[in-house]
Amino acid sequence: MRITYPRSFLSLLLIGFSIVAAPLIFALFTNALAFEKLAGLSEQAVHSAVKATQASRSLLAIIAALERSARQYAIAGEATFLDAYRANRATFLGLAATLDSMALSDNQRSEVASIERQEDDVNKLITRMGPTPELSRRLPREFASLADSGQALVKLGDQGVDEGIEQLRTQAVQSRNKVFWLMIALIPTALVLIASFTFLISRPIRQVTESIRGLGEGQFARPIRIEGPGDMVRLGAQLDWLRERLVTLEAQKTRFLQHMSHELKTPLTALREGSDLLYSGVVGNLNAEQREIARILQENSIELRKLIEGLLNYSAVHAQASYLDAKIVALREVVRRVVNDRKLPIVAKGIRIELNCEHVSAYCDEEKIRIVLDNLLSNAIKYSPERSLISIKLYKDSGDAVFEVLDEGPGIAPSDRERIFEAFYRGTDTPVSAIKGSGLGLSIVKEYIQLHRGRIEVLEGPGAHFRIRFPRKKVDSETEQAA
Ligand code: ADP
Repeated sequence: MRITYPRSFLSLLLIGFSIVAAPLIFALFTNALAFEKLAGLSEQAVHSAVKATQASRSLLAIIAALERSARQYAIAGEATFLDAYRANRATFLGLAATLDSMALSDNQRSEVASIERQEDDVNKLITRMGPTPELSRRLPREFASLADSGQALVKLGDQGVDEGIEQLRTQAVQSRNKVFWLMIALIPTALVLIASFTFLISRPIRQVTESIRGLGEGQFARPIRIEGPGDMVRLGAQLDWLRERLVTLEAQKTRFLQHMSHELKTPLTALREGSDLLYSGVVGNLNAEQREIARILQENSIELRKLIEGLLNYSAVHAQASYLDAKIVALREVVRRVVNDRKLPIVAKGIRIELNCEHVSAYCDEEKIRIVLDNLLSNAIKYSPERSLISIKLYKDSGDAVFEVLDEGPGIAPSDRERIFEAFYRGTDTPVSAIKGSGLGLSIVKEYIQLHRGRIEVLEGPGAHFRIRFPRKKVDSETEQAA
């Protein structure tokens, strides 16, 4: 799938953070809205119901005060009682008007209207009859009915408070459920977004790391292409330019080596033939000292020729070391072939070979793995004493194919363990009996194993003990190279 990236890494980071934060901000915003709504509801439903109840209770109290002053006026007929009655009535009317202006239920509103009507009737009665015994007799009944209506209003108010609280509770439960389900949906969404952006951000960085490692390991065959934001793509193009430069340098180096070795060969052949002629006495008899000098010349020219051939061989091998011709290979068969090819020196030295090989198949370059094993086995034969044992193991270990080659020779000095993989390095403790090599075998082994993304180690042992491992499955770079 092709992903469209923004122009810069910074924009990718900003977009990533914003998108990941979006669901969380949405959740926060929704929560705030739900709480705001709840607070509004409590204000509306409970607060106003409580206010109405308080006003109803005050109305009930003022009805009692009204009754008291009216009855005193009816009995005593004094102006002070009439004034008190009027003052109480003004308070009553004010309270009734306040109640009218409040948010009331229909029942409460009709109850308030009925109280106002009844009070108006009582007031008319008092005005009409004045302070008479008849009025004293009628007032208790009139006020009793007014007080009953007042009580009914208080009761309706209490009911309103209860209903308001119930409604609030239901709303609170609904809001809580809503927030809960929202979180259940948003947390995985946020996690998926975090994972996606982590992938998007880390992918180009991983590609850059892999490309640089590939360059370091000398894998120049695969063009470098970074998928990501504009600046990372440009960085990829720069790395690819670097790769091309390295390919050119590598080719120049190989060409130079080949030319040099070739050019050296001709004078060297003349030198060797000359020393041969001298040594064989064809051009005149030599005394003992002269013969010795001719022998040294002859031996060294042979040694030099070997080195130059090694150099030519190495540059040829090195030129091949940047690609893999990989397929599924049965590794046990490769071991058998390598041992078979070395039969002559093995028999000549009376060496016993112990094979401990499991059925292991791996996706690798068969020829290169054969060369690796052949180098290890030929070294083991070269450095082993006569009639000793060489053991070869092959097994699987957590996705890797592992070879071990052990011999009973002098082993490798700890100070040499890192250096023996360098080109042209020959160990310090090499026994005199061993034929001098070019010091290239193990450097080729290491190069080929690294090409398979594997590694080689030298283990402790009485003799030499090499272990190589590489992944059995296709790795990305190989897939593309093999394609
Ligand atoms: P050479 O052609 O000298 O064998 P290599 O690269 O194959 O070059 O090996 C490098 C050095 O590692 C050798 O000179 C030798 O000192 C040491 N070495 C390699 N294999 C063995 C072995 N099986 N036993 C002892 N020394 C070894």
